[in-house]
Amino acid sequence: MTNFKGNFHIAIVGAGLAGLATAILLRRAGYKVTVLEQDAELREVRDLRSHQRLLLMKSIQIGAGIQLPANANKVLAEMGILDKILEQAVRPQAIKLYSYQSDAVLSTLNLDPYVQNTYGIPHLVMHRADLRRLLFDEAEAQGVCIRLGTKITPEHTELVTGVIRLASGKQITADLIIGADGASSMCRRVLVGEPRLSKATGRIGNRIVIDSDVMLQDERLKDFVLTPNIHVWLGPECLAVCYLLKGAFNVVLTHPPNNYEDMFLGPRPVDSAEVRSLFSTWDPRIRALLDKAHVFQKWMFLEPQEIRTWVHPNGKLALIGDAAHEALPYL
Ligand SMILES: Cc1cc2nc3c(=O)[nH]c(=O)nc-3n(C[C@H](O)[C@H](O)[C@H](O)COP(=O)(O)OP(=O)(O)OC[C@H]3O[C@@H](n4cnc5c(N)ncnc54)[C@H](O)[C@@H]3O)c2cc1C
Repeated sequence: MTNFKGNFHIAIVGAGLAGLATAILLRRAGYKVTVLEQDAELREVRDLRSHQRLLLMKSIQIGAGIQLPANANKVLAEMGILDKILEQAVRPQAIKLYSYQSDAVLSTLNLDPYVQNTYGIPHLVMHRADLRRLLFDEAEAQGVCIRLGTKITPEHTELVTGVIRLASGKQITADLIIGADGASSMCRRVLVGEPRLSKATGRIGNRIVIDSDVMLQDERLKDFVLTPNIHVWLGPECLAVCYLLKGAFNVVLTHPPNNYEDMFLGPRPVDSAEVRSLFSTWDPRIRALLDKAHVFQKWMFLEPQEIRTWVHPNGKLALIGDAAHEALPYL
C-alpha cells in the first residue's frame, strides 16, 4: 500500500508562529512538509541572548512579548514542547487593573494558580522570538524541511498546479500550499485577487522593552520584576499594558494617531519625547519606565476587510494565521 500522507507534500509560505505550528502538527500527522521563509536569519535570535542591547533592538522588530493563554498552551503541549516553553516563559500571578494616574489597584484577576487549577495548564507570557525559535527547532526535529531566505512572489506561484519557482530556478511542487505569510500576505492577495483593504482602528501601539536588571536598581520599578504580574492602566483613549519577560520588561502604550490619513502597518521609529509628553500625567511608574527606555517602535492597529474565503476553490491553497484573520491586540 502506498504511503499517502508521506507522499502528500504541503508547502507552507511563512515561518511565523502560525506557519511553524502548522508545520509541526502536519508533520506529526505524517505529511511531507516544506516551509518557505523570506527571513534568512531566524536562528540568529539565539545568539542575541548574549548581547543584551541587540536583543532589545531586535526584539522590537519582531514583536516583543506574547501572552500564551491556557488554550494556546494545550496546543503547545500536544506538540510536545510545553516543558521547553515553561523553561523560557514567565508565569504571571495576576492581571492588575489601574486607573491611569494612580498606582491604586482597581481590580485583580487571578491567573496563578487559578488558570492551572481550572484548565489544568497555566497562563504564560514569553518573548515572541523565543517562542518562534522553539517552534522552529521542533519543526526541524520532526523532519520539516525549512528553507530560509526564500521569498515567494505571486509571479512564481501557480495555484492551479501547486508549483512554486524559487529565485534559484529550482521548482517545488506541492499538493497543497498554505499561506501563513502574515498580515501583508502575498498568498491572500493571490487568493482574493485584489489588494488588502484596511481601516485604521484609531489606535497607535508603541512597543517598548526595558532591561529588567536596570529596573531592579529603581525602588519604584523593582516590584514589577520581583513579582511577575500583567499590569494594565486604563486612561482616556489610551492604554498601557506591561509584563515581565525573561530578562526584559515589555511595555505597550496605545493612543489615537495624530493623522488618520497616514495608515501604516509598522514598525516605525517613534519620537520618544512625544510619547513621554502624551503619558506625562500618568502613574509615576509609567513615567519612570519611559525614562529607562531607549528603543521605541510603533504600529498602527488596522482592521482588515474580511475576505469571503480562506480556501481556493481548487483546493490547492488555504490561508491561516494573520494572513487569514489578523487579530487586533488588547481589544
Ligand atoms: C511584528 C509583529 C509583532 C507582534 N507582536 C505581538 C506581541 O508582542 N504580542 C502579541 O500578543 N501578539 C503579537 N503579534 C501578533 C501575533 O504574534 C500574530 O497574530 C501572530 O504572530 C501571527 O502569526 P503568523 O504566523 O500568522 O504571522 P507572522 O508572525 O507575521 O509570520 C509571517 C511569516 O511569513 C513570512 N513571510 C511573509 N511574506 C513572505 C513571502 N512572500 N515569502 C516567504 N515568507 C514570507 C514572514 O517573514 C514571517 O516570518 C505580533 C505580530 C507581528 C507581525
